[in-house]
Amino acid sequence: MRRTMWSCAASGLVLGTMAGVAAAAWGGNRANPRSGIGALQPVANIEHRADESGVHVVTLDNGIMLLIQPVPGATMVAIEEVHRVGFIHDPAGVAQGSHLIEHLRCMGATASHAPGVAYSRLNTAGLANAETMGDLTHYDLVVPPEQLGEALAAILERHESLGIDDAIIAQEAPRCHAEVVNVTRAMGGPGLKFAMAAAVQAWRHGLGEASLLTGLEAWDAGSAERWMHATHRPERLTLAIVGAVDPDEIERRAEERFGTMAAFDEPHDADPFAPIDYAALPPEQTVTWDVDAAAVFVLYPPPEDSDERAALTLWGLQASRDLAQDPRRRDTGGQAFRPRPGDGLMNGTPYPVGDLPLFVFSSAPRDPDQQRRYAASLAEQLEAMAADPRRSAGWVRSTARMYAGAIEAGFDQVAFERGVASLRSQGDERRAEMLVLGNTALQTAMAWHALGPDPVARLNALADRPPEWWEEIIRRTVTPANRRITILAPRAPAGAGE
Ligand SMILES: [Zn+2]
Repeated sequence: MRRTMWSCAASGLVLGTMAGVAAAAWGGNRANPRSGIGALQPVANIEHRADESGVHVVTLDNGIMLLIQPVPGATMVAIEEVHRVGFIHDPAGVAQGSHLIEHLRCMGATASHAPGVAYSRLNTAGLANAETMGDLTHYDLVVPPEQLGEALAAILERHESLGIDDAIIAQEAPRCHAEVVNVTRAMGGPGLKFAMAAAVQAWRHGLGEASLLTGLEAWDAGSAERWMHATHRPERLTLAIVGAVDPDEIERRAEERFGTMAAFDEPHDADPFAPIDYAALPPEQTVTWDVDAAAVFVLYPPPEDSDERAALTLWGLQASRDLAQDPRRRDTGGQAFRPRPGDGLMNGTPYPVGDLPLFVFSSAPRDPDQQRRYAASLAEQLEAMAADPRRSAGWVRSTARMYAGAIEAGFDQVAFERGVASLRSQGDERRAEMLVLGNTALQTAMAWHALGPDPVARLNALADRPPEWWEEIIRRTVTPANRRITILAPRAPAGAGE
């Protein structure tokens, strides 16, 4: 992926972790001030209120959720393609398999284009990028309206005619590995998403080690293609089209293009979406990896009910923010440890709305005994918060109401124009508009993807639940008995280098 401000390679720094995006999807830049794009002051703004979000929602017969958001005055169109597949679904022994597939879908040959051609054409016309996250992958395009047809065709071809062969794997695998190195170098740690790629090998597949810096090149092309076909399905796809569009016209065109998109039904060894039995994990486990850093997950098996998961998500966002600000988190039994900025704790907790557990993630001390004490201290603080009714219900309900209001407020025209104007001084206006529209499309797609076709009603319904409902879920879930700890430790001895 090209290293733009929006680049896949730089995404750990720009969009933060998937937790940051989860927050951004619901709260806009206000909730995620570290987000580079969010810093443009765009979109859903809590001070701006409208009667409705202005997002047209259409569910096609094949299950694709289509979101159309016209923006008066826009001259470009942003298209956000969100698939419900990410690191949490990686195959056994193929850590980052989902990430490699993302690269291949951008760079591979399709019926109409040689490798890399469609991507580079769209990137020249506007912006093109993609990012793999915990339980989703998003593909971003911003193009002039006259190239919308080409963009939609490229998305369809990714699905229908992408060919995976050894050559394209040999080209893209090292790029996926290199991103881990670059992020680790820039952030002082591998960040949440790559840590999750390692932990998933234990959670889903029961493996005790994971390789993030080598190995993808050995993935057999046929297996990779079958895995892609099994995981990229219309009913798991959300498509947001935002900007200079006429809603009726774009609905007709999108339905023509995507209405007949079908899932590939071919035999596959294992169901990539089989739920992970988090409760069956040992109370504590260590996964060794080839990254020269230590990290820790404290996780709790999520309930099955999706409203309960959403409730825990909201609680988790608040709890992890509190935890990040608590000076006690540095106390690991006499020796202070401070998680690296951006390496988990500062970004809020990702959510179990989809296939994820409730968890906090942090970089960790190198010493194994300290790791254990540090993980236990994180868990104890979280469990103490869960046992405190004030924290369990009050602020979580107001958070649900706040996110509902932010989504309902919809596109903020004044903020849009201000955002474009603020970037004008730094570069050309067209690029400024592309970044703001791209960010809006991403936030819209993420919110609807996470919460379903009526996110405002869903959040308000959650906020209307009585405090006892919230308290019971949180107290029942976040307990010492449910606590699972996964430690990621370097394969080589400390100080031995990469
Ligand atoms: Zn990448």
